[in-house]
Amino acid sequence: MTFDNHIIVCPIEHSSAHEIKDKTVVLKTSSLDNVSIAVEKFKNNNNIIHAVLFVPDKPLSEFNFDIALPNCKIVCFASKLGEYSILRKQFPYIHKNKILFFFEPNSEESFLSVKLLSTLNIAVGFKLNSKDILWQDLLDICFHTLYSKASHYIFEPINYLISDFKKEGTIHIESSYFDNFRRYLHLSDTTMQLALTQDDLKNKNFIADGFESLLLKETETVYEKKIAEWHAVFIENKPCATCVAWRLCNGSFLSYCDKGMSEPVAFFSEILEAIQSKNNRVGEISI
Ligand code: SF4
Repeated sequence: MTFDNHIIVCPIEHSSAHEIKDKTVVLKTSSLDNVSIAVEKFKNNNNIIHAVLFVPDKPLSEFNFDIALPNCKIVCFASKLGEYSILRKQFPYIHKNKILFFFEPNSEESFLSVKLLSTLNIAVGFKLNSKDILWQDLLDICFHTLYSKASHYIFEPINYLISDFKKEGTIHIESSYFDNFRRYLHLSDTTMQLALTQDDLKNKNFIADGFESLLLKETETVYEKKIAEWHAVFIENKPCATCVAWRLCNGSFLSYCDKGMSEPVAFFSEILEAIQSKNNRVGEISI
């Protein structure tokens, strides 16, 4: 069955959360206060907890991190740090709870936030499914992480690339922020509808209405069509067909490249080359 191995990104506040059984889940929440209780409830329903996804609806300085959190991967999609003088008192607890903070790489403020947290040895990253990416700034910070002898913190997507690097085939860095449709499904906040990506969820573009619908032939057909979409770029002779960055980008920025923008090609090809040569050097040393 096509979706047997998919991980469900599930809001813990969902009114039908108690009906979710025998799944592997990422528990999504806008507050960390009730996470430990939710994790226990989901575990009692025979679910496996893959991670907790904290999506705050206000600046981080307005949250209390001095709480006991479950012993699993905790990821936060942050937008603003907020009041620094208040937040800095929380840094020891953030550090202790090993939370990984993702930002959108589209503003000076985001880059400053990432730099600040990383200097405190707090794990950080950028989501590449964002709009209006500042490509050169992103490339600079990725290169700094790859080459600086001083960098010892976790920085995504570089950390994911290094740990999951394969010499052949496509690489899906969006897995590091649970947005690879081959691996994750996203449950609506209010209904039992499921979407393939975070954007699809936002745009209410659902693939199934409830877990039973995942068994339907029509659902499987839509999914298989999505999987096969990449063929089209070669048939229609899109820029991806000859792009050196294909194996890392997988055509994710075709709307940019179709308009003649060269930044995605430059970014992904330089990162790919750097990771490959780093990987080769590690191989040489180990021989
Ligand atoms: S960088 Fe552009 S041309 Fe290359 S694979 Fe990505 S979307 Fe296609």
